[in-house]
Amino acid sequence: MNLFSGLEKFGLKSVASMQVFEEEQKEKKEMDTAKKETVHTEEEFLFDKKMACSVCDKEFKTKRVKNGRVRMLKSDPDLRPRFQFIDTLKYGITSCPFCGYTAINRNFEHLAPVQRKLVKEQISSQFKPTILYDEATISYDTAIDRYKLSLVNAIVKKGKASEKSYICLNLAWLLREKAATMPESVPGEKAAKAECLKEGETFYEQAYEGFMKAISQEMFPMCGMEESTVDYLLAYMAFHFKKYDISAKFLTSVVTSPSASRRAKDMALDLRNEIRAILAKQKQ
Ligand SMILES: [Zn+2]
Repeated sequence: MNLFSGLEKFGLKSVASMQVFEEEQKEKKEMDTAKKETVHTEEEFLFDKKMACSVCDKEFKTKRVKNGRVRMLKSDPDLRPRFQFIDTLKYGITSCPFCGYTAINRNFEHLAPVQRKLVKEQISSQFKPTILYDEATISYDTAIDRYKLSLVNAIVKKGKASEKSYICLNLAWLLREKAATMPESVPGEKAAKAECLKEGETFYEQAYEGFMKAISQEMFPMCGMEESTVDYLLAYMAFHFKKYDISAKFLTSVVTSPSASRRAKDMALDLRNEIRAILAKQKQ
């Protein structure tokens, strides 16, 4: 059947064999296949940023995430950020390869003269210049080393409790992620994986204790986090360590906060229900 009969008068002779939908579907299918076949590498979302070291003044390049290009996915229940195709946490640290001065990106350039002196004396004087990474992307092992180096720097420069806690939190998240990629088919591998998870737990505990201290000493925002975000984070960590009373207290503060987002309040309500269910089960 020629659906286009009557159009001949317009001189459109070839329309008789046209199909309304089939070609379109085929094209869409081809497009979908092409979409699926595009393999994204972490490297695509990175660029080299030139930095001047706040301690030794030397210039070096550091890997940074192209913020405009990455797509945020749903974060974990403890707010660990997730992005498509890349684990941005690995790129949260800037480290001078010459003198060892290392800090979280947002703090790298902010160093008081007295802190500079402390880093020079206690880090740079012993630091052996090694290229911490010279590859296109950063591995979990390298990222973990960089965060640990930043933690040592934060201790030496007498950094804020929130800064040290934030580093510990990121270390916990990275160690957990590294553990997830580790094999466990033989006893040796199982032990190594368990060790990695245990180390992550230790840093998680340090982060929890540190943030508890920070909220009694510091002003918000802390490491870019507003009060309701830190309250939710503490609620989740307290829940993780089975300190349900403390968790409930922080959750109430999120739920009743005038500045917390709808999403934060919903997450807090979900967690509160989870705790109630656990407590009810314990009573039985
Ligand atoms: Zn330096």
